Amino acid sequence: MKVLNLRCAHGHGFEGWFGSESEFEAQRDGGQIECPLCGDKAVVKGLSAPRLNLGAGRKEPPAADVPVPMPEQSPEARWMRAVRDVLARTEDVGDRFAQEARRMHHGEVEERGIRGRATPEEAVALLDEGIAVLPLPVPAALKETLQ
Ligand SMILES: [Zn+2]
Repeated sequence: MKVLNLRCAHGHGFEGWFGSESEFEAQRDGGQIECPLCGDKAVVKGLSAPRLNLGAGRKEPPAADVPVPMPEQSPEARWMRAVRDVLARTEDVGDRFAQEARRMHHGEVEERGIRGRATPEEAVALLDEGIAVLPLPVPAALKETLQ
């Protein structure tokens, strides 16, 4: 006997037992083989035996048995969360950062948390004017999801 892994045109895999490959071909050509899932008769042969159970159908161990690392506790996760927090509480003003920071400093607009891009020169100028700016290296992953 030969175990053949078969596949229908819809991608359903199933097994067929045949005396030989030529028997399979004869049965297929005679329309005697059909997919047990959808009845499709356009069946092709996949990789043939030896039978190897590569974990198909094996139950995953219950989650409780697996030591799950606590991502919240890693320094990276704490940093990510802190950055996320800042991002959530600040308004992204983009390239207008220096301008907005000055306007707030001079009371032209209400003080609020802003973030944005400033060149090193702009940042230095702001600091010179007594405007507090902080560099915030935002992880690239967060930038992509939040901006
Ligand atoms: Zn099928």
